[in-house]
Amino acid sequence: MAKKTLELNDQLYTYLLSVSLRENDELKALRVATNQLEMNIMQISPDQGQFMAMLVKLMGAKNILEIGTFTGYSTLAMAQSLPAGGKLITCDVSEEWTDIAKQHWALSGVDNKIELQLAPAEQTLKSLLDNGNAGGIDLVFIDADKQNQWKYYEYCLQLLRPGGLVLIDNVLWDGKVANPDDDSECTGDIREFNKKVFSDNRVEISMIPVGDGITMARKI
Ligand code: CA
Repeated sequence: MAKKTLELNDQLYTYLLSVSLRENDELKALRVATNQLEMNIMQISPDQGQFMAMLVKLMGAKNILEIGTFTGYSTLAMAQSLPAGGKLITCDVSEEWTDIAKQHWALSGVDNKIELQLAPAEQTLKSLLDNGNAGGIDLVFIDADKQNQWKYYEYCLQLLRPGGLVLIDNVLWDGKVANPDDDSECTGDIREFNKKVFSDNRVEISMIPVGDGITMARKI
């Protein structure tokens, strides 16, 4: 009986993927295209995408919000799980990266479910609230600039329905959050964020060591 979460070495992770990853051709093509980019480290792992796609289905989510599109892999994974009439709003400021995303969403045939907001996320979140969307979102994925993460989280809690879920990416930050010698600003921001969510009694939480670590925070 395991007393702690198993550490995945390369061999075991390869095994995990070999018996569980069912990445479809559209997702695979996008992952391969993104791997050509210098910033490919920003792409979520395929097993994380599959996990998030399952969460969408388990929750019966119809309205999803994503902060941080990058090249749209997580967007596509979640949008493919949306029912007919479902909608995913995704926020980013990079035209270069979201152009890649848009091409692949179109090829996959789910682009009609995706609305890209090419603007600073805070602006989009404010306008969603101003337009009466408070309590209307089922699921949020936050995966953007870490210094503004708490701000995004606060807006997202207002936009979520009770019982809705926020997923926050990179909470384990390649292990750096636990390294006392790492005093970089970004690592500090993530540590601070994790501490605040831990003591936030507006949500129930679980931190999952998939990919670079995700916190699931369910709005009470
Ligand atoms: Ca990320």
